[in-house]
Amino acid sequence: MNKSIAIIGFALSWVALQGISATTNPIEKNRKKPNIIIIMADDLGYMDVGFNGCKDIPTPNIDRIANNGVKFTNGYTSYSVCGPSRAGLMTGRYQQRFGFERNPQYKPHDPNMGLPQTESTLAETLKQVDYKSGVIGKWHLGADISNHPLNRGFTEFFGHLGGGHNYMPEMLTIEDSYGISTEMESYRTWIMRNHTPEKTDEYLTDEFSNEAVQFVKRNQYNPFFLFLSYNAPHTPLQATEKYLNRFPDIKDKKRKTYAAMISAVDDGVGRVLDALEALNLDENTLVFFLSDNGGPEPKNASNNGPLRDGKGSIYEGGYRVPFAMQWKGTVKPAIYEQPVSSLDIFATIADLSKAPIQEEKPLDGVNLIPYLTGKKQGKPHENIFLRKFDQNVHAVRHNDYKLVVKFDSETKELYNIEKDISEKHNLAKKHPEKVKELDAMRLSWESELIDPLFLGLIHTEAWQKKIQKNKKRKKKKK
Ligand code: CA
Repeated sequence: MNKSIAIIGFALSWVALQGISATTNPIEKNRKKPNIIIIMADDLGYMDVGFNGCKDIPTPNIDRIANNGVKFTNGYTSYSVCGPSRAGLMTGRYQQRFGFERNPQYKPHDPNMGLPQTESTLAETLKQVDYKSGVIGKWHLGADISNHPLNRGFTEFFGHLGGGHNYMPEMLTIEDSYGISTEMESYRTWIMRNHTPEKTDEYLTDEFSNEAVQFVKRNQYNPFFLFLSYNAPHTPLQATEKYLNRFPDIKDKKRKTYAAMISAVDDGVGRVLDALEALNLDENTLVFFLSDNGGPEPKNASNNGPLRDGKGSIYEGGYRVPFAMQWKGTVKPAIYEQPVSSLDIFATIADLSKAPIQEEKPLDGVNLIPYLTGKKQGKPHENIFLRKFDQNVHAVRHNDYKLVVKFDSETKELYNIEKDISEKHNLAKKHPEKVKELDAMRLSWESELIDPLFLGLIHTEAWQKKIQKNKKRKKKKK
Protein backbone atom coordinates (compact mmCIF):
# COMPACT_ATOMS: atom_id res chain seq x y z
CA MET A 1 0.00 0.00 0.00
CA ASN A 2 1.17 3.49 -0.81
CA LYS A 3 2.47 5.09 2.39
CA SER A 4 0.58 8.38 2.04
CA ILE A 5 -2.71 6.55 1.41
CA ALA A 6 -2.11 4.50 4.55
CA ILE A 7 -1.55 7.66 6.58
CA ILE A 8 -4.71 9.27 5.22
CA GLY A 9 -6.61 6.06 5.92
CA PHE A 10 -5.33 6.02 9.50
CA ALA A 11 -6.22 9.68 9.98
CA LEU A 12 -9.75 9.08 8.65
CA SER A 13 -10.36 6.11 10.93
CA TRP A 14 -9.08 8.11 13.89
CA VAL A 15 -11.54 10.88 13.05
CA ALA A 16 -14.30 8.28 12.71
CA LEU A 17 -13.46 6.80 16.12
CA GLN A 18 -13.49 10.22 17.74
CA GLY A 19 -16.88 10.78 16.17
CA ILE A 20 -18.32 7.63 17.73
CA SER A 21 -17.29 8.65 21.23
CA ALA A 22 -18.71 12.17 20.93
CA THR A 23 -22.32 12.75 21.98
CA THR A 24 -23.22 14.60 18.78
CA ASN A 25 -21.95 11.92 16.45
CA PRO A 26 -24.26 11.37 13.48
CA ILE A 27 -24.48 7.61 13.95
CA GLU A 28 -25.94 7.91 17.45
CA LYS A 29 -28.18 10.74 16.35
CA ASN A 30 -29.48 8.68 13.46
CA ARG A 31 -30.03 5.70 15.67
CA LYS A 32 -32.51 7.75 17.66
CA LYS A 33 -34.87 8.15 14.71
CA PRO A 34 -37.25 5.21 14.94
CA ASN A 35 -36.92 2.48 12.35
CA ILE A 36 -39.95 0.85 10.87
CA ILE A 37 -40.53 -2.68 9.67
CA ILE A 38 -43.79 -3.62 7.98
CA ILE A 39 -44.21 -7.35 7.73
CA MET A 40 -47.03 -8.16 5.36
CA ALA A 41 -48.50 -11.58 4.75
CA ASP A 42 -50.46 -12.21 1.59
CA ASP A 43 -54.03 -13.55 1.73
CA LEU A 44 -53.75 -14.61 5.36
CA GLY A 45 -57.08 -15.32 7.07
CA TYR A 46 -58.23 -13.27 10.05
CA MET A 47 -58.31 -16.34 12.32
CA ASP A 48 -55.05 -17.87 11.09
CA VAL A 49 -52.74 -16.37 13.70
CA GLY A 50 -52.46 -17.42 17.33
CA PHE A 51 -53.27 -13.93 18.60
CA ASN A 52 -56.67 -14.12 16.92
CA GLY A 53 -57.43 -17.56 18.30
CA CYS A 54 -56.03 -19.96 15.70
CA LYS A 55 -55.72 -23.46 17.14
CA ASP A 56 -54.18 -25.65 14.44
CA ILE A 57 -51.36 -23.39 13.22
CA PRO A 58 -49.07 -22.14 16.00
CA THR A 59 -47.58 -18.70 15.23
CA PRO A 60 -45.46 -18.03 18.32
CA ASN A 61 -43.31 -15.40 16.63
CA ILE A 62 -46.07 -13.41 14.99
CA ASP A 63 -47.78 -13.57 18.39
CA ARG A 64 -44.64 -12.09 19.97
CA ILE A 65 -45.42 -8.83 18.15
CA ALA A 66 -48.97 -8.80 19.51
CA ASN A 67 -47.76 -9.71 23.02
CA ASN A 68 -44.91 -7.17 23.01
CA GLY A 69 -47.27 -4.49 21.76
CA VAL A 70 -50.77 -4.06 20.49
CA LYS A 71 -53.25 -6.46 19.02
CA PHE A 72 -55.75 -4.61 16.84
CA THR A 73 -59.10 -6.37 16.76
CA ASN A 74 -60.57 -3.94 14.21
CA GLY A 75 -57.66 -3.49 11.82
CA TYR A 76 -58.62 -2.78 8.21
CA THR A 77 -56.72 -2.58 4.97
CA SER A 78 -57.83 -0.07 2.37
CA TYR A 79 -58.96 -2.69 -0.12
CA SER A 80 -59.88 -6.35 -0.26
CA VAL A 81 -57.36 -7.50 -2.90
CA CYS A 82 -53.58 -7.26 -3.11
CA GLY A 83 -52.55 -4.48 -5.51
CA PRO A 84 -54.85 -1.66 -4.42
CA SER A 85 -54.36 -2.53 -0.74
CA ARG A 86 -50.59 -2.22 -1.19
CA ALA A 87 -50.96 1.03 -3.14
CA GLY A 88 -52.85 2.43 -0.14
CA LEU A 89 -50.27 1.16 2.34
CA MET A 90 -47.38 2.55 0.30
CA THR A 91 -48.91 6.04 -0.13
CA GLY A 92 -50.92 6.41 3.07
CA ARG A 93 -53.88 7.45 0.94
CA TYR A 94 -57.03 5.77 -0.26
CA GLN A 95 -55.85 4.43 -3.60
CA GLN A 96 -59.21 5.24 -5.24
CA ARG A 97 -58.08 8.87 -5.02
CA PHE A 98 -55.50 8.17 -7.70
CA GLY A 99 -57.14 5.46 -9.79
CA PHE A 100 -55.35 2.37 -8.42
CA GLU A 101 -58.45 0.28 -7.94
CA ARG A 102 -57.56 -2.94 -9.71
CA ASN A 103 -54.85 -5.54 -9.52
CA PRO A 104 -52.46 -4.37 -12.23
CA GLN A 105 -51.76 -6.57 -15.23
CA TYR A 106 -48.16 -7.69 -15.60
CA LYS A 107 -46.97 -5.21 -18.26
CA PRO A 108 -43.23 -4.60 -17.99
CA HIS A 109 -43.30 -1.93 -20.69
CA ASP A 110 -46.34 0.06 -19.65
CA PRO A 111 -45.50 2.91 -17.25
CA ASN A 112 -49.20 3.60 -16.69
CA MET A 113 -49.88 0.11 -15.34
CA GLY A 114 -49.02 0.71 -11.70
CA LEU A 115 -48.55 3.36 -9.04
CA PRO A 116 -48.84 6.86 -10.59
CA GLN A 117 -45.68 8.95 -10.35
CA THR A 118 -47.77 11.80 -8.94
CA GLU A 119 -48.00 9.92 -5.62
CA SER A 120 -45.18 9.67 -3.10
CA THR A 121 -44.31 6.30 -1.64
CA LEU A 122 -43.40 5.91 2.02
CA ALA A 123 -39.80 5.29 0.93
CA GLU A 124 -39.73 8.52 -1.10
CA THR A 125 -41.16 10.37 1.88
CA LEU A 126 -38.69 8.95 4.40
CA LYS A 127 -35.74 9.51 2.05
CA GLN A 128 -36.12 13.23 2.75
CA VAL A 129 -35.16 12.56 6.37
CA ASP A 130 -32.26 10.20 5.57
CA TYR A 131 -33.95 6.83 5.86
CA LYS A 132 -32.72 3.86 3.83
CA SER A 133 -35.57 1.69 2.61
CA GLY A 134 -35.84 -1.84 1.31
CA VAL A 135 -38.50 -4.05 -0.20
CA ILE A 136 -38.04 -7.76 0.29
CA GLY A 137 -40.62 -9.94 -1.45
CA LYS A 138 -43.69 -9.05 -3.43
CA TRP A 139 -43.96 -5.63 -5.10
CA HIS A 140 -47.11 -5.66 -7.27
CA LEU A 141 -47.22 -1.89 -7.81
CA GLY A 142 -46.22 -1.99 -11.47
CA ALA A 143 -43.75 -4.06 -13.52
CA ASP A 144 -42.48 -1.20 -15.69
CA ILE A 145 -38.98 -0.09 -14.78
CA SER A 146 -40.28 3.38 -13.89
CA ASN A 147 -42.14 1.73 -11.03
CA HIS A 148 -39.27 -0.51 -9.92
CA PRO A 149 -38.76 -0.08 -6.15
CA LEU A 150 -35.36 1.56 -6.74
CA ASN A 151 -37.17 4.18 -8.82
CA ARG A 152 -39.80 4.67 -6.10
CA GLY A 153 -37.58 5.73 -3.23
CA PHE A 154 -36.17 2.39 -2.09
CA THR A 155 -32.46 1.80 -1.81
CA GLU A 156 -32.69 -1.97 -1.88
CA PHE A 157 -34.91 -4.54 -3.55
CA PHE A 158 -34.88 -8.31 -3.36
CA GLY A 159 -38.07 -9.79 -4.70
CA HIS A 160 -40.51 -10.17 -7.56
CA LEU A 161 -42.52 -7.57 -9.43
CA GLY A 162 -45.81 -9.45 -9.91
CA GLY A 163 -48.65 -10.44 -7.63
CA GLY A 164 -47.49 -13.92 -6.70
CA HIS A 165 -44.65 -16.39 -7.13
CA ASN A 166 -43.62 -20.00 -7.12
CA TYR A 167 -41.80 -20.98 -3.95
CA MET A 168 -39.49 -23.77 -5.09
CA PRO A 169 -36.19 -22.63 -6.60
CA GLU A 170 -36.30 -25.21 -9.40
CA MET A 171 -39.58 -23.69 -10.60
CA LEU A 172 -38.03 -20.30 -11.22
CA THR A 173 -36.88 -20.78 -14.79
CA ILE A 174 -37.29 -17.37 -16.46
CA GLU A 175 -34.30 -15.13 -15.96
CA ASP A 176 -35.61 -11.84 -17.30
CA SER A 177 -38.59 -10.27 -15.51
CA TYR A 178 -38.94 -7.73 -18.31
CA GLY A 179 -39.03 -10.27 -21.16
CA ILE A 180 -42.49 -11.66 -20.35
CA SER A 181 -46.00 -10.28 -20.56
CA THR A 182 -48.36 -12.30 -18.40
CA GLU A 183 -48.99 -12.55 -14.68
CA MET A 184 -48.70 -16.36 -14.75
CA GLU A 185 -45.27 -16.22 -16.42
CA SER A 186 -44.16 -13.72 -13.80
CA TYR A 187 -44.63 -16.45 -11.15
CA ARG A 188 -41.63 -18.26 -12.63
CA THR A 189 -39.06 -15.46 -12.89
CA TRP A 190 -35.77 -15.34 -11.06
CA ILE A 191 -35.71 -13.11 -8.04
CA MET A 192 -34.39 -9.62 -8.68
CA ARG A 193 -31.65 -8.19 -6.51
CA ASN A 194 -32.02 -4.52 -7.21
CA HIS A 195 -31.98 -4.57 -11.03
CA THR A 196 -30.19 -7.90 -11.47
CA PRO A 197 -31.90 -11.31 -11.78
CA GLU A 198 -30.50 -13.78 -9.28
CA LYS A 199 -30.73 -17.54 -9.23
CA THR A 200 -31.89 -18.58 -5.77
CA ASP A 201 -31.60 -21.99 -4.16
CA GLU A 202 -33.86 -22.00 -1.11
CA TYR A 203 -37.58 -22.08 -0.42
CA LEU A 204 -38.68 -18.56 -1.30
CA THR A 205 -40.04 -17.63 2.12
CA ASP A 206 -36.69 -18.61 3.66
CA GLU A 207 -34.84 -16.55 1.04
CA PHE A 208 -36.86 -13.51 2.03
CA SER A 209 -36.29 -14.12 5.75
CA ASN A 210 -32.52 -14.45 5.21
CA GLU A 211 -32.47 -11.19 3.31
CA ALA A 212 -34.54 -9.41 5.94
CA VAL A 213 -32.05 -10.29 8.68
CA GLN A 214 -29.17 -9.11 6.48
CA PHE A 215 -30.99 -5.89 5.69
CA VAL A 216 -31.42 -5.10 9.38
CA LYS A 217 -27.76 -5.84 10.09
CA ARG A 218 -26.58 -3.74 7.14
CA ASN A 219 -28.73 -0.78 8.13
CA GLN A 220 -28.29 -0.86 11.89
CA TYR A 221 -26.44 2.47 11.97
CA ASN A 222 -28.92 4.45 9.89
CA PRO A 223 -32.66 4.94 10.20
CA PHE A 224 -34.41 2.39 8.03
CA PHE A 225 -37.74 1.26 6.63
CA LEU A 226 -38.03 -2.38 5.73
CA PHE A 227 -41.07 -3.62 3.85
CA LEU A 228 -40.89 -7.37 4.34
CA SER A 229 -43.56 -8.36 1.89
CA TYR A 230 -43.96 -12.12 2.01
CA ASN A 231 -45.99 -13.52 -0.89
CA ALA A 232 -46.99 -16.40 1.42
CA PRO A 233 -49.54 -17.80 1.98
CA HIS A 234 -50.84 -16.67 -1.44
CA THR A 235 -51.30 -19.47 -3.97
CA PRO A 236 -49.68 -21.57 -5.41
CA LEU A 237 -49.75 -23.66 -2.26
CA GLN A 238 -46.21 -25.03 -1.97
CA ALA A 239 -44.19 -25.96 1.08
CA THR A 240 -41.10 -27.97 1.95
CA GLU A 241 -41.03 -31.12 4.10
CA LYS A 242 -39.37 -29.18 6.91
CA TYR A 243 -42.54 -27.14 7.40
CA LEU A 244 -45.08 -29.77 6.31
CA ASN A 245 -43.72 -32.16 8.95
CA ARG A 246 -44.80 -29.76 11.66
CA PHE A 247 -48.44 -30.57 10.93
CA PRO A 248 -48.97 -34.33 11.16
CA ASP A 249 -52.45 -33.78 12.60
CA ILE A 250 -53.87 -31.69 9.78
CA LYS A 251 -55.38 -34.20 7.38
CA ASP A 252 -56.72 -31.78 4.76
CA LYS A 253 -53.86 -31.48 2.28
CA LYS A 254 -54.63 -27.91 1.32
CA ARG A 255 -54.87 -26.70 4.89
CA LYS A 256 -51.71 -28.59 5.78
CA THR A 257 -49.71 -26.88 3.04
CA TYR A 258 -51.21 -23.52 3.95
CA ALA A 259 -50.25 -24.13 7.59
CA ALA A 260 -46.70 -25.04 6.57
CA MET A 261 -46.40 -21.82 4.55
CA ILE A 262 -47.51 -19.71 7.51
CA SER A 263 -45.13 -21.59 9.77
CA ALA A 264 -42.26 -20.59 7.45
CA VAL A 265 -43.34 -16.96 7.63
CA ASP A 266 -43.54 -17.26 11.42
CA ASP A 267 -39.95 -18.54 11.58
CA GLY A 268 -38.87 -15.54 9.51
CA VAL A 269 -40.69 -13.11 11.78
CA GLY A 270 -38.89 -14.69 14.74
CA ARG A 271 -35.51 -14.29 13.09
CA VAL A 272 -36.17 -10.60 12.36
CA LEU A 273 -37.30 -9.96 15.95
CA ASP A 274 -34.23 -11.83 17.25
CA ALA A 275 -31.97 -9.69 15.06
CA LEU A 276 -33.54 -6.50 16.41
CA GLU A 277 -32.99 -7.70 19.96
CA ALA A 278 -29.42 -8.83 19.34
CA LEU A 279 -28.50 -5.48 17.78
CA ASN A 280 -30.24 -3.61 20.57
CA LEU A 281 -32.62 -2.01 18.07
CA ASP A 282 -35.87 -3.39 19.45
CA GLU A 283 -36.74 -0.28 21.46
CA ASN A 284 -36.04 1.91 18.48
CA THR A 285 -38.01 0.01 15.88
CA LEU A 286 -41.73 -0.11 15.21
CA VAL A 287 -42.78 -3.47 13.84
CA PHE A 288 -46.14 -3.90 12.18
CA PHE A 289 -47.60 -7.21 11.11
CA LEU A 290 -50.68 -7.51 8.91
CA SER A 291 -52.18 -9.22 5.91
CA ASP A 292 -52.85 -7.28 2.69
CA ASN A 293 -56.45 -8.53 2.55
CA GLY A 294 -58.64 -11.25 4.00
CA GLY A 295 -58.24 -14.95 3.30
CA PRO A 296 -59.74 -16.39 0.10
CA GLU A 297 -61.09 -19.30 2.15
CA PRO A 298 -61.83 -21.96 -0.48
CA LYS A 299 -58.78 -21.10 -2.57
CA ASN A 300 -55.96 -21.39 -0.03
CA ALA A 301 -57.82 -23.06 2.87
CA SER A 302 -57.60 -19.94 5.00
CA ASN A 303 -60.03 -19.14 7.80
CA ASN A 304 -61.53 -15.73 8.49
CA GLY A 305 -63.33 -17.03 11.58
CA PRO A 306 -66.55 -15.18 12.32
CA LEU A 307 -66.05 -12.62 9.55
CA ARG A 308 -68.38 -12.77 6.57
CA ASP A 309 -66.85 -13.72 3.21
CA GLY A 310 -63.20 -13.22 2.33
CA LYS A 311 -60.72 -11.74 -0.12
CA GLY A 312 -62.36 -9.48 -2.66
CA SER A 313 -65.47 -8.91 -0.57
CA ILE A 314 -67.08 -5.73 0.72
CA TYR A 315 -67.92 -7.63 3.93
CA GLU A 316 -65.55 -7.82 6.89
CA GLY A 317 -63.76 -10.97 5.74
CA GLY A 318 -62.49 -9.04 2.74
CA TYR A 319 -60.50 -6.35 4.49
CA ARG A 320 -60.49 -6.79 8.26
CA VAL A 321 -57.18 -8.56 8.79
CA PRO A 322 -54.79 -9.91 11.42
CA PHE A 323 -53.06 -6.73 12.56
CA ALA A 324 -50.53 -6.14 15.34
CA MET A 325 -47.66 -3.82 16.17
CA GLN A 326 -44.89 -3.43 18.70
CA TRP A 327 -42.71 -0.57 19.81
CA LYS A 328 -41.00 -1.89 22.88
CA GLY A 329 -40.32 0.65 25.61
CA THR A 330 -42.83 3.15 24.24
CA VAL A 331 -46.11 1.34 23.61
CA LYS A 332 -47.31 -0.89 26.43
CA PRO A 333 -48.91 -4.25 25.63
CA ALA A 334 -52.62 -3.87 25.02
CA ILE A 335 -55.61 -4.90 22.98
CA TYR A 336 -56.90 -2.01 20.91
CA GLU A 337 -60.50 -2.23 19.73
CA GLN A 338 -61.13 1.04 17.89
CA PRO A 339 -61.03 0.74 14.10
CA VAL A 340 -57.58 1.40 12.63
CA SER A 341 -56.41 1.31 9.04
CA SER A 342 -53.33 0.12 7.17
CA LEU A 343 -53.19 3.75 5.98
CA ASP A 344 -52.22 4.73 9.54
CA ILE A 345 -48.81 3.09 9.23
CA PHE A 346 -47.59 5.75 6.78
CA ALA A 347 -48.98 8.60 8.87
CA THR A 348 -47.44 7.17 12.06
CA ILE A 349 -43.87 6.93 10.79
CA ALA A 350 -44.10 10.16 8.78
CA ASP A 351 -45.07 11.98 11.95
CA LEU A 352 -42.43 10.30 14.13
CA SER A 353 -39.63 10.91 11.64
CA LYS A 354 -40.84 14.46 10.88
CA ALA A 355 -40.80 13.72 7.17
CA PRO A 356 -42.51 16.42 5.12
CA ILE A 357 -45.73 15.44 3.34
CA GLN A 358 -46.88 16.80 -0.03
CA GLU A 359 -49.44 19.42 0.91
CA GLU A 360 -51.72 18.75 -2.05
CA LYS A 361 -51.79 15.03 -1.19
CA PRO A 362 -53.14 14.83 2.36
CA LEU A 363 -52.81 11.51 4.13
CA ASP A 364 -55.89 9.48 5.02
CA GLY A 365 -54.29 7.88 8.06
CA VAL A 366 -53.31 9.22 11.47
CA ASN A 367 -50.37 8.73 13.82
CA LEU A 368 -51.56 5.90 16.05
CA ILE A 369 -48.94 6.27 18.78
CA PRO A 370 -50.73 8.96 20.89
CA TYR A 371 -53.84 6.74 20.89
CA LEU A 372 -51.83 3.71 21.91
CA THR A 373 -49.95 5.48 24.71
CA GLY A 374 -53.16 7.04 26.02
CA LYS A 375 -52.02 10.58 25.28
CA LYS A 376 -54.99 11.01 22.99
CA GLN A 377 -58.48 9.78 23.78
CA GLY A 378 -61.23 9.01 21.33
CA LYS A 379 -61.13 7.30 17.97
CA PRO A 380 -58.42 7.58 15.35
CA HIS A 381 -61.07 7.43 12.60
CA GLU A 382 -64.54 8.78 12.13
CA ASN A 383 -65.02 6.42 9.19
CA ILE A 384 -63.49 3.48 7.39
CA PHE A 385 -64.38 3.44 3.69
CA LEU A 386 -64.30 0.94 0.87
CA ARG A 387 -65.39 1.21 -2.74
CA LYS A 388 -65.07 -1.49 -5.39
CA PHE A 389 -65.62 0.21 -8.71
CA ASP A 390 -65.93 -2.83 -10.98
CA GLN A 391 -68.40 -4.59 -8.71
CA ASN A 392 -70.20 -1.32 -7.95
CA VAL A 393 -70.24 -2.00 -4.22
CA HIS A 394 -69.55 0.47 -1.44
CA ALA A 395 -69.14 0.41 2.33
CA VAL A 396 -68.62 2.80 5.17
CA ARG A 397 -68.08 1.98 8.80
CA HIS A 398 -69.00 4.70 11.27
CA ASN A 399 -68.64 3.83 14.97
CA ASP A 400 -70.53 0.59 15.56
CA TYR A 401 -72.44 0.71 12.29
CA LYS A 402 -71.56 -0.30 8.77
CA LEU A 403 -73.49 0.55 5.67
CA VAL A 404 -73.16 -1.58 2.54
CA VAL A 405 -74.49 -0.14 -0.71
CA LYS A 406 -74.69 -2.29 -3.80
CA PHE A 407 -75.53 -1.72 -7.44
CA ASP A 408 -76.46 1.92 -7.96
CA SER A 409 -77.83 2.35 -4.45
CA GLU A 410 -80.71 -0.05 -4.98
CA THR A 411 -79.65 -2.32 -2.18
CA LYS A 412 -78.70 -0.96 1.21
CA GLU A 413 -77.64 -3.02 4.19
CA LEU A 414 -76.94 -1.76 7.66
CA TYR A 415 -75.13 -3.80 10.28
CA ASN A 416 -74.19 -3.21 13.87
CA ILE A 417 -70.64 -4.51 13.56
CA GLU A 418 -69.97 -4.49 17.30
CA LYS A 419 -72.98 -6.69 18.08
CA ASP A 420 -73.11 -8.55 14.80
CA ILE A 421 -69.55 -9.19 13.65
CA SER A 422 -70.75 -11.67 11.00
CA GLU A 423 -73.04 -9.12 9.30
CA LYS A 424 -76.10 -11.35 9.50
CA HIS A 425 -78.84 -8.95 10.54
CA ASN A 426 -79.68 -6.18 8.11
CA LEU A 427 -81.01 -3.25 10.15
CA ALA A 428 -81.60 -0.91 7.20
CA LYS A 429 -85.39 -0.97 7.51
CA LYS A 430 -85.24 -0.54 11.27
CA HIS A 431 -82.90 2.48 11.21
CA PRO A 432 -83.55 4.47 8.03
CA GLU A 433 -82.09 7.61 9.64
CA LYS A 434 -78.80 5.78 10.26
CA VAL A 435 -78.75 4.61 6.65
CA LYS A 436 -79.22 8.18 5.49
CA GLU A 437 -76.51 9.51 7.80
CA LEU A 438 -73.90 6.95 6.73
CA ASP A 439 -74.81 7.19 3.07
CA ALA A 440 -74.19 10.93 3.15
CA MET A 441 -70.69 10.27 4.55
CA ARG A 442 -70.03 7.71 1.84
CA LEU A 443 -71.17 10.02 -0.96
CA SER A 444 -69.06 12.83 0.39
CA TRP A 445 -65.96 10.60 0.39
CA GLU A 446 -66.73 9.16 -3.04
CA SER A 447 -67.01 12.65 -4.51
CA GLU A 448 -63.24 12.92 -3.95
CA LEU A 449 -62.41 9.73 -5.88
CA ILE A 450 -61.62 9.11 -9.53
CA ASP A 451 -62.36 6.16 -11.81
CA PRO A 452 -59.71 3.43 -12.17
CA LEU A 453 -56.83 4.48 -14.42
CA PHE A 454 -55.81 1.10 -15.78
CA LEU A 455 -57.36 -2.26 -16.64
CA GLY A 456 -56.96 -5.06 -14.16
CA LEU A 457 -56.09 -8.74 -14.07
CA ILE A 458 -59.75 -9.62 -14.52
CA HIS A 459 -59.77 -7.80 -17.85
CA THR A 460 -58.32 -10.63 -19.88
CA GLU A 461 -58.18 -10.78 -23.67
CA ALA A 462 -61.26 -13.01 -23.61
CA TRP A 463 -63.06 -10.38 -21.56
CA GLN A 464 -62.09 -7.64 -24.01
CA LYS A 465 -63.23 -9.74 -26.99
CA LYS A 466 -66.56 -10.35 -25.30
CA ILE A 467 -67.05 -6.61 -24.71
CA GLN A 468 -66.24 -5.89 -28.36
CA LYS A 469 -68.62 -8.61 -29.54
CA ASN A 470 -71.41 -7.16 -27.40
CA LYS A 471 -70.76 -3.71 -28.83
CA LYS A 472 -70.96 -5.07 -32.39
CA ARG A 473 -74.16 -6.94 -31.59
CA LYS A 474 -75.75 -3.79 -30.19
CA LYS A 475 -74.76 -1.87 -33.32
CA LYS A 476 -76.33 -4.53 -35.57
CA LYS A 477 -79.59 -4.40 -33.63
CA LYS A 478 -79.78 -0.68 -34.19
CA1 CA B 1 -53.32 -10.52 -1.18
